[in-house]
Amino acid sequence: MEIFQNCVYIVSALFFILGLKKLSHPSTARQGNFLSVIGMFLGVVITLFDYQILDYKFIIVGILIGSLIGLFSARIVAMTSMPEMVALLNGFGGASSLFVGWSALVSTTMFSLFNNVVTGFSVFIGGLTFSGSIIAWAKLSEKISGKPFTYKGQMFVNILLLLICVVSIVFFVLSPIDYGFCFYIIIGLSLIIGILSVISIGGGDMPVVISLLNSYSGIAACFAGFVIENVLLIVAGSIVGASGLILTNIMCKAMNRSLFNVLFSGFGSLQSSQSNVDRGEVSPIVVDDAYLILEAARSVLIVPGYGMAVAQAQHVVKELSDLLESNGAEVSFAIHPVAGRMPGHMNVLLAEASVPYEQLVEMESVNPVIDSIDVCIVIGANDVVNPDARDNESSSIYGMPIIEVDKAKTVFVLKRSMKPGFAGIENPLFYMPNTRMLFGDAKSSIQSIVSQFKD
Ligand code: NDP
Repeated sequence: MEIFQNCVYIVSALFFILGLKKLSHPSTARQGNFLSVIGMFLGVVITLFDYQILDYKFIIVGILIGSLIGLFSARIVAMTSMPEMVALLNGFGGASSLFVGWSALVSTTMFSLFNNVVTGFSVFIGGLTFSGSIIAWAKLSEKISGKPFTYKGQMFVNILLLLICVVSIVFFVLSPIDYGFCFYIIIGLSLIIGILSVISIGGGDMPVVISLLNSYSGIAACFAGFVIENVLLIVAGSIVGASGLILTNIMCKAMNRSLFNVLFSGFGSLQSSQSNVDRGEVSPIVVDDAYLILEAARSVLIVPGYGMAVAQAQHVVKELSDLLESNGAEVSFAIHPVAGRMPGHMNVLLAEASVPYEQLVEMESVNPVIDSIDVCIVIGANDVVNPDARDNESSSIYGMPIIEVDKAKTVFVLKRSMKPGFAGIENPLFYMPNTRMLFGDAKSSIQSIVSQFKD
């Protein structure tokens, strides 16, 4: 049975790897998801035949309660709250690893150095992933402020807590019986360190934190796999851990920040709100005038952001794009890597609206030719088109590459008010002479322009 189980684990792992490969392209992503589901299903089913399972009662109760909560929350969650939900689920992954480590400890009498090490790490990383993800969830859902929470001596406190935690792990590893209390110190401190390390990170840096927490949850699962000697958990955890690290690297590059800089950016970063700077007047535009300009445009670049997700405007955006193309304009879409509230957020929405992949252009390729574009339509994007990231050294997002829509001949910014974006900073783009603000919900504004085209 054990040989058969390991063979099925290998097949499951192959499904995961193939699934991941296919997830890397929008045209094969659904297939990739399906393959991964098969891999997971096989893995779960074969694990249920494990000879070490003596009683199925609690497993069945756990599956029922978990499935009911999962089904209910997946059904009620609004599409716009998906990023928060993903952060929460990620945290639960960390909590599971913590509990796996904990249960292994209480159910064993045979301690080995290796087992003590992996138990200590699965609990430590699992705990900090859980509490860190809860804070990420609270920030993304605006239950708490997205601004970095800092205080004097924060760095010292964090390092001290980390040192105490490392010392506790060492004592626990050397003698889990004599130093059993250290295990509970590790749990408590890992939860506190998770909270403190995410709460001090500013809004604009959250994409990196999200992908890093994702990676942590994989690493914690991998350690949990070693704890219970489950090959599939080790493989799946390593895949999640490694892909999370790759994503973290991509996000750091997208923001032109080093990981160290992001993790410690709360310490003394320049957070200028600049609300007292006189930037002049904004120039609003009404739908009729926007339509006339778009009707004459030969090249149009659409730049979506989080507001497009809020307005659920992706389908009308696609309709507008089709109408512009049939009117003779060349239309393309530029997606910033950190636009929205989770990696790939805008790609998913545009794919849902069947925007062809060929119409998407990279930020690096469009920026050098953006001054030749007649109209850039910024749909609910803000931070990712903020020229301060390029021009203002005192801005908290200074250095992050942006889509340089301000260089286009005309820019339409579709948003409801003058409120800032996730980073909480003002945007000089709105005051530029070539910018026209089309105030209102993005979906209604675009619907009105579409109606004009159809009349
Ligand atoms: P922003 O958060 O900067 O701006 C979104 C804009 O959308 C707001 O200015 C808002 O203005 C507007 N908006 C909201 N609802 C509507 C609506 N119904 N109709 C029209 N406009 C609307 O979004 P960006 O995509 O430009 O930037 C993403 C930000 O989120 C970055 O700071 C990034 O670092 C951060 N982030 C990204 C993550 C990721 O993985 N991608 C994860 C976590 C954070 P108004 O209220 O006036 O309408």
